[in-house]
Amino acid sequence: NMMQNPRVIRQLDEALINRIAAGEVVERPASAVKELVENAIDAGAGRIRIDIADGGKTLIRITDDGCGIPPADLPVALARHATSKLDGSDLLNIHSFGFRGEALASLAAVGRLELTSRAAGHEAARIRVNGGRAGEVEPAALREGTVVELRDLFHATPARLKFLRTERAESQAISDVVKRLAMAEPAVGFILRDISGGGEGRLILRADSEGGDLFDALGARLARIMGRDFIDNALGIDATREGIRLHGYAALPTYSRGAAVAQFLFVNGRPVKDRALTGALRAAYQDVLSRDRHPAAALFIDCPTDLVDVNVHPAKAEVRFREPGVVRGLIVTALRHGLAGAGHRASTTVGA
Ligand code: ADP
Ligand code: MG
Repeated sequence: NMMQNPRVIRQLDEALINRIAAGEVVERPASAVKELVENAIDAGAGRIRIDIADGGKTLIRITDDGCGIPPADLPVALARHATSKLDGSDLLNIHSFGFRGEALASLAAVGRLELTSRAAGHEAARIRVNGGRAGEVEPAALREGTVVELRDLFHATPARLKFLRTERAESQAISDVVKRLAMAEPAVGFILRDISGGGEGRLILRADSEGGDLFDALGARLARIMGRDFIDNALGIDATREGIRLHGYAALPTYSRGAAVAQFLFVNGRPVKDRALTGALRAAYQDVLSRDRHPAAALFIDCPTDLVDVNVHPAKAEVRFREPGVVRGLIVTALRHGLAGAGHRASTTVGA
């Protein structure tokens, strides 16, 4: 209405900007766990411990033995768009999980965050953020690595809190996230515990660091996470086309599942949920599996970073390939070929 006075346009303050942006990065406790565990992996951790309480709603604590953060950098790590992982401005050449420099700032905006860390050659130090405001850097006691503690997620955004599901459902989502990252990083040890009840807590998942060559380590880790019987009933896949490599394990049709719970896909080491890729997986099994069954698989696609864009979504679960047809073709042909060979082998080894 032209008769009314124009409304004043105001610049939003920093704390509010962070809270709005946080909505994109942190949907639920599991997204917080994902960001924090990815940070630990990026820091070169060999062991990562994840403690949660009440489905992560009241407490998420990630302890790693990675490179740590020097005291003077603690406030910087919490600032928005502050990252140590992007060299120059090359968004195509990303080798770490993180690169947006958004996670810690976002988490600090939606929960009470405490960051304690020790970097080589420095004393341990801690910083706390409450209500979006960071305190002073204080001395702390920590032998190595980093501990990030996030309490009372979404306490400042009751609307968001209301949409969280039961403790059980949120714990399940956290466990899924940790499983996927554990599959992506067989050399890293993971422990996930529910400490709601106090004390040592209840063990949800444990996967010790896998040694051996890469393929063995992956097989051992997948057996640990997906079950020995998956690996025993799966084909090892390794195929390359036009510079794109597909490797991992795909279950024999006889091992199919009713629900699509056991499909794990990774692009350049990053867990993804991508319709085009699951569609290709389905197409590969189309002749050997009825429509109501789902093939179990853990497949890794590795391709030059200029052929894939991981910068599609803040939560980074989607990817965009420059040549989607090549990737689809690779998945369908490699799996069909493997399945055909397996059918042949199985029939020749019957009774053996
Ligand atoms: P990003 O991961 O995109 O860089 P984050 O907000 O998640 O952004 O982290 C900001 C910075 O804080 C990182 O670039 C890294 O330098 C540092 N950092 C965060 N978590 C850890 C950790 N567990 N160990 C060492 N450094 C960390
Ligand atoms: Mg990060």
